[in-house]
Amino acid sequence: MYVYLNGKLVPSKEASVSVFDHGFLYGDGIYETMRVYDGVIFKLDEHIKRLYRSASLIGLTIPLETDALKISVYETLIANSLRNAYLRLTVSRGRGALGLNPELCPEPTVVIIAQKFKEYPKTLYQNGISMIVSSIRRNLKEAINPQIKSLNFLNNILARIEAKRAGAYEAIMLNANGELTEGTVCNVFFYKSGVLYTPSLECGILDGITRGTIIDLAIREYMKVKEGRFTKEDIYSAEEVFITNTTLEVMPVSKTDKSEYNIGNVTKLLHKAYRKEVNAYVADVKAEEPSIWGLNI
Ligand code: PLP
Repeated sequence: MYVYLNGKLVPSKEASVSVFDHGFLYGDGIYETMRVYDGVIFKLDEHIKRLYRSASLIGLTIPLETDALKISVYETLIANSLRNAYLRLTVSRGRGALGLNPELCPEPTVVIIAQKFKEYPKTLYQNGISMIVSSIRRNLKEAINPQIKSLNFLNNILARIEAKRAGAYEAIMLNANGELTEGTVCNVFFYKSGVLYTPSLECGILDGITRGTIIDLAIREYMKVKEGRFTKEDIYSAEEVFITNTTLEVMPVSKTDKSEYNIGNVTKLLHKAYRKEVNAYVADVKAEEPSIWGLNI
């Protein structure tokens, strides 16, 4: 396996980062996770745009133009002969003397890891996952803007530990006002009385790329969609609940704390529509730019 590290593809055993890297020392950095379907990175432009937005929000200059970065991502896939993959693109502040000052780090560290995509068990999609409402509140958006997809994930890790201890798969966090926000690595949707609901960005969540796609698809399917401020009682009394992210796509939730749900038609329909959207996207990219963004290996 080859890893892209600061402009070079190196064998994974040799791909190491300094103990003085501020990503390691202070969680000072950003990242994106992408999914590759049949040689095409789904919504690559959106992920790259969000990466640069995260960088700008922490005053970090990515040392590559967007097109050069996209080529590097594809080169990493080619080096590993991967057509269906999980991709992680990380940019940290880089190596520098101890201390929080970003100017101590002259060069950011850029890492691209590509791994074969391991499918989630089918039974999870058939039976749904269980979720808790975490006692850990989501970071105050005025303290750490959740739109920064940062390397500092402790808030989410604490909630995930709580979920694990409770025997659940995921945890949804509330914000400081007691409103629903998001899962530890996903956005959350619920359906009730003909309306699809999801917490709005103002509640303090990441604007998930999958979330955006699902909202568009639901509107295209003539569903009523409401983004807003909701409480845990709203999710307890829902008819259907599902979570979304780039790797899970649309995962049904069968239980939140003591409330149970059926895996309903809305969740199934939206997951089907999502897969159709992925297939159409892959076909479009291959038709438009077969040799660059559609992988020819
Ligand atoms: N919310 C959080 C906290 C996340 O970490 C993620 C994905 O990693 C998401 C939401 C979903 O984002 P996306 O759909 O862009 O993968």
